[in-house]
Amino acid sequence: MSFRNPSPHFTLAHQPRIHELMPIFLQNLAITIRGLQIARVRYTSHFRRTLEELERSVHGPLEALHELQRQRLVGLVDHARANVPFYRDLPPPSDARDPLEAIERTLKNIPPLDKNTYALQPEAFRARNISRRRLIRDVTSGTTGTALTLWQTPERVAEKYATVWRQCRSFGVQPRDPHFSFGGNVVAPRSQTRPPFWRRNAYGRQTLFSVFHMSPANLPSYIDAMHRIPARYAQGYPSALHLIARAMLDAGRPLPRGRFAAVFTSSESLLAFQRDAIEEAFGAPARDYYSSSENLVAMSECAARRLHLDMEFGIAEVEPEEETDAYVRGPLLLTGLGNEAAPLFRYRIGDIGRRAKDPCPCGRPGVTFLAVDGRDDDYVVTPDGSLVGRLDHLFKDQVDVAEAQILQETKDAIEIQLVPRPGYGDDSRERLLAQIRSRLGDDIGVTIRRVEAIAREPNGKFRAVKSRPGRKLR
Ligand SMILES: [Zn+2]
Repeated sequence: MSFRNPSPHFTLAHQPRIHELMPIFLQNLAITIRGLQIARVRYTSHFRRTLEELERSVHGPLEALHELQRQRLVGLVDHARANVPFYRDLPPPSDARDPLEAIERTLKNIPPLDKNTYALQPEAFRARNISRRRLIRDVTSGTTGTALTLWQTPERVAEKYATVWRQCRSFGVQPRDPHFSFGGNVVAPRSQTRPPFWRRNAYGRQTLFSVFHMSPANLPSYIDAMHRIPARYAQGYPSALHLIARAMLDAGRPLPRGRFAAVFTSSESLLAFQRDAIEEAFGAPARDYYSSSENLVAMSECAARRLHLDMEFGIAEVEPEEETDAYVRGPLLLTGLGNEAAPLFRYRIGDIGRRAKDPCPCGRPGVTFLAVDGRDDDYVVTPDGSLVGRLDHLFKDQVDVAEAQILQETKDAIEIQLVPRPGYGDDSRERLLAQIRSRLGDDIGVTIRRVEAIAREPNGKFRAVKSRPGRKLR
């Protein structure tokens, strides 16, 4: 099982070999068999039990969630001290009676763990009392940065899918409902030039659309297929779902309202303008989900558009950099609750969270985040050395731009590649330039280049900013 694409929904990991000479029905068969194998790993009795528990605990009381967190944290610290070489000298967990106090004291005694520290010695984090043969091992291969070796127990994997399905089932969607996927899998040979650019996992009742063939010339065939093939929900990368949503709206062919229960996005931040287009085109609410390859925490977005930490599954602390009455913002420190295979405490994942101070208006108790940023994109560096992140606002009001990507080789200049929509003209260009100048200043060189399509990363993800001087460790 691979966690290379942390898209939690039904990613078909370890590709079946799609050979371009293979007839499409055989490709579909290979994908179906893989779908069956994956379902067997994920949807186990442990999955069903955990999902039942999660659906009970979601409405609180909050004290019960804190007590559950305390128990799981204490158990994990004891386990790490006994079985994990890196944590052999960890202080014992706090025995304070109040759960919140116990959690806080226990964590305070553990220094934060940097990604690099882990990446250089992953073996030191592997629990010695669990047979290697029982573990699911994966090596992530990001587009940049260091490869990470990760271990999980099968139970931990099932628990993650239980958090995914708690969110899905709140929309009345069930695991065997027909659905569309727009994830990172290579489902059609890259050399293919004619539809279908999708394949069928008949077992999972899943239609997998290729995110690598979404050029303007091919998109009409996607739209036809989406109108024709039955589905109750869609899931995938927001960038890909946004692109198809835009194309549907441009063609005047949104999906009939009510046909889809929801659209579930993951792996990249769901940006406001993407959400608007997706909800309009699919006629259904879009909901984000946050997790990472390390599988330490999960967060599920609610109707109030906040990310709820799935507290049964992990702890997310914020290293405060900015604080207001409404939120505290800073790098996230993640502690997984339950991965006995390789416990990680206070892991500095590299993402920035904005944790809300007030209870969520949706009524679900517990920790919520207003946003988690920086999952995939680099910063733009300005000539004076400032780092500028979250540049999605640049394109927010650019309704005549289908997609755009910022490329930066040196800190003196950027290039913007954009895919224009009908209506894009000199005015649009001027508006965009004004937006850029207001955020990046007048000293940086800006080139705008119109392109047919923007290339995806090898894992199918879209990166809004690719900057050599502003690259982050991934
Ligand atoms: Zn909420």
